[in-house]
Amino acid sequence: MNKKEILKILKDDSINSALFDKADKIRRKECGNIVHLRGLIEFSNVCGRNCLYCGINCKNKNVVRYTMNEDEILSCAKNATELGFKTIVLQSGEGDNVSLDKMCSIIEKIKELNIALTLSLGEKTKEEYKAYKDSGADRYLLRIETTDERLYKKMHPDGDFKNRVNCLYTLKELGFETGTGVLVGLPYQEIDSYADDILFFKKLNADMIGLGPFIAHNQTELKEAKNGDLTLALKVMALTRIIMPKINIPATTAMETIEKNGRIKALKSGANVVMPNVTPENIKENYSIYPDKKGVDAHRASELDKLKKEIASLGDSISDDFGVSKNYKYQ
Ligand code: SAH
Repeated sequence: MNKKEILKILKDDSINSALFDKADKIRRKECGNIVHLRGLIEFSNVCGRNCLYCGINCKNKNVVRYTMNEDEILSCAKNATELGFKTIVLQSGEGDNVSLDKMCSIIEKIKELNIALTLSLGEKTKEEYKAYKDSGADRYLLRIETTDERLYKKMHPDGDFKNRVNCLYTLKELGFETGTGVLVGLPYQEIDSYADDILFFKKLNADMIGLGPFIAHNQTELKEAKNGDLTLALKVMALTRIIMPKINIPATTAMETIEKNGRIKALKSGANVVMPNVTPENIKENYSIYPDKKGVDAHRASELDKLKKEIASLGDSISDDFGVSKNYKYQ
């Protein structure tokens, strides 16, 4: 599909259910009737960046900042393996409070648990990314957030769009299974730009795409802004699935937060991944990138059970392997 064709579908709401069905069929054909679960550890909310939409940006003085130490991260990772997760995602703000050596040591020790490891630590240098890879990290998530450069600059006054793009190409080049994605419904974000976003995903040949609606956080400059729309986010996601049949796509927490059943809708419209939260309960409220996050709390057996039932009700089973993206080519 070219930009014009993508846009036509994005603008036509009369075909939404056909679009979602098509994406669902393609996901089932190419990735199977299987959902991958990833255990998410939000190990630090320390951040030096000022992304206007994000509740833990460095300007928000109300945030209680924390960084889990190595032992805490490892015990959390071990707990995740005991709960059955085959992939752990380590996510944080973009701080420089965890040294490269420390990060590499954490990566090496987590890999001893015989589990796939995804990192989501923001923009780093090529040397840092390489050190993570050499230590055993398998995957990296770095959303481009939007490919509209002017909007990118507005939303990231301290950001450099070209650097973020370069980071993604560097991650691919280093052999990471590479994930990116966007926010949907940022102030001033135009429908045209989602078509460009999708074509960017394709050009990068991303292995995973995560996207979700923007949700206004009341301690940010965007507190008065309108929230993003679930249907539009699902449309961008479904089109991404159709254009990139083999990639992994999570049903994101933002989708469930903006609308109850958002997760199910996503799993019926092309998504094949869910990322329950394994961050210790006493600190996870401080990782408030947007308010009232409705993630699956893996520490609560009832929530994990409910998710498993939801997945079964869709005719899917839960993967018992690492869930490598079928798009990923070993380097
Ligand atoms: N520091 C890391 C992780 C960022 S948090 C990095 O730069 O990659 C993970 C994602 O949450 C972000 O990439 C962003 O797309 C999303 N996010 C942040 N604030 C949000 C908000 N208010 N509403 C919806 N999603 C948000």
